[in-house]
Amino acid sequence: YQTLRLILGDQLNASHTWYKEKDDSTLYVIAELKQETDYVRHHIQKVCAFFSAMANFANALSQAEHHVLYLTLDYTQGYADLPALLNSLCGQYGICHFEFQRPDEYRLYEQLHTLKLPSAITIHEYDSEHFLLPYSELMEQFPQGKHILMEHFYRRMRKRFDILMSDSKPVGGKWNFDKQNRNKLKPDDIAEIPAPLIFSNPIRDIRDRLERHQVKTIGTTTDDLLWPVTRGQAIEQLAWFCRYGLPRFGQFQDAMTGKSDHQWSLYHSRLSFALNSKILHPMQVIQAALDAWHDSDGEIDIAQVEGFIRQILGWREYIRGVYWGNMPYYQLQNELGANRPLPEFFWTGETKMACMKAAINQSLNYAYAHHIQRLMVTGNFCLLTGIDPNEVDRWYLGIYIDAIEWVEMPNVRGMTQFADGGIVATKPYAASGNYINKMSDYCAGCHYNVKLKTEDNACPLNSLYWHFLHTHEKRLTRNPRVGMIYRSWDQLTDEQQQKVLNRARYCLDNLDEL
Ligand code: FAD
Repeated sequence: YQTLRLILGDQLNASHTWYKEKDDSTLYVIAELKQETDYVRHHIQKVCAFFSAMANFANALSQAEHHVLYLTLDYTQGYADLPALLNSLCGQYGICHFEFQRPDEYRLYEQLHTLKLPSAITIHEYDSEHFLLPYSELMEQFPQGKHILMEHFYRRMRKRFDILMSDSKPVGGKWNFDKQNRNKLKPDDIAEIPAPLIFSNPIRDIRDRLERHQVKTIGTTTDDLLWPVTRGQAIEQLAWFCRYGLPRFGQFQDAMTGKSDHQWSLYHSRLSFALNSKILHPMQVIQAALDAWHDSDGEIDIAQVEGFIRQILGWREYIRGVYWGNMPYYQLQNELGANRPLPEFFWTGETKMACMKAAINQSLNYAYAHHIQRLMVTGNFCLLTGIDPNEVDRWYLGIYIDAIEWVEMPNVRGMTQFADGGIVATKPYAASGNYINKMSDYCAGCHYNVKLKTEDNACPLNSLYWHFLHTHEKRLTRNPRVGMIYRSWDQLTDEQQQKVLNRARYCLDNLDEL
């Protein structure tokens, strides 16, 4: 072979120009690596999903008569890291050219950009041909330290890609139907939640391998992995979503329930793994949603399809821009000086707070929680209790099937923890128990009472919420979007305020007991 081409685990893009031509002098390598299983403690389903998807991709390439080397942990464990492995392969196969696709994570980007191979070997980087916004524009569109309004970015993307546009105006007369997307699930709605499409991918061999190499994981799994790990499965999942999820996606996007067997999936697409591993292209997903909308004869309304497209054309591309515009400095941000350790129950689900218990147990069982659980349940809890953002990042980066740093970090450190001081969010997403009660049915069955603030059985979120606002008053009163909230705090007497703060301090001193 003359050329060695590296395919990373999240670069399973079968439509890449690399594969347009068959070339007998090119060897592709896909490798299971200890450095990837161990940089954080991952959910068992996440590691299995990546390894299984990588192996399937290697098979598909081989069937298309490309030359592919799939290396399992059994083979690669002898190498200290990826550069060591690549050096060895280059020597072994007499390689003259090494080629790779630009990694989306800073960690791997650094590693490949500082890669040392024997000087006779040329190194060439390609684009991954996945994202809609070219990499070359990221620094200009997302200057370091600057807040870019997602809504403006999203409108530019709508125009640029001509999505949901008619004569330069947004279809439906509005750019954003978010206000129509805040419904709670009523009992009749709950009965109608569709059973999610799940797959049964055998992962026994992978699990044995992980055990053999002492890879430490979190969460549970069975012998069958339910996530889509081939292109065919991902396309099936997309079709399922367009049929059963999309018609009510926007409407119940922020809703949560503990009363359905399908409470973990609701109307969400669960396409994030297929997208982030690049099995699916974002435009393919957007186009499928648009087609379903056009073909539905009015059954799917604009609010649903716009809400979904905004997540992919807007949020996903925006978050990537924030990451690259601000790394590596972003990972050091801790604007609110948060420094508490993550409570133990994040790893066990053993807490008396019904909302937290549901979100954490579901995450441990499925490696998945939907957006509002991540943002307003676990994320809000960490924000209010001032958990060290490094610990929060590590938990999110490990537990979710779709967690890759470029998308995890701005969502966690930025959107939920406000640790970036407002690069992503203009204000902290802080909420009391009232929000959870408005958007879910968790509170009815909770050990704590959501209507109380100061009593022993008062919902901890209520006092923690005021404690948070009180602690950061100086910074937050300057913010016009938060300032007015302080007026209801100011209406309490000193004694009432003290009682709330005392309850909050008790909760903070006893986080593991909550
Ligand atoms: P759907 O609700 O069906 O949405 C469709 C798609 O839109 C998703 O698959 C995703 O690709 C995209 N999307 C939606 N919201 C966002 C967002 N805020 N940022 C980027 N893409 C978005 N997403 C990840 O892919 N990986 C992560 O590690 C991750 N960590 C998160 C951590 C926190 C604290 C929060 C608040 C959000 C995080 N998200 C992350 C964003 C979002 O919650 C998930 O993309 C979504 O829940 C995945 O489930 P789904 O495919 O069913 O999404």
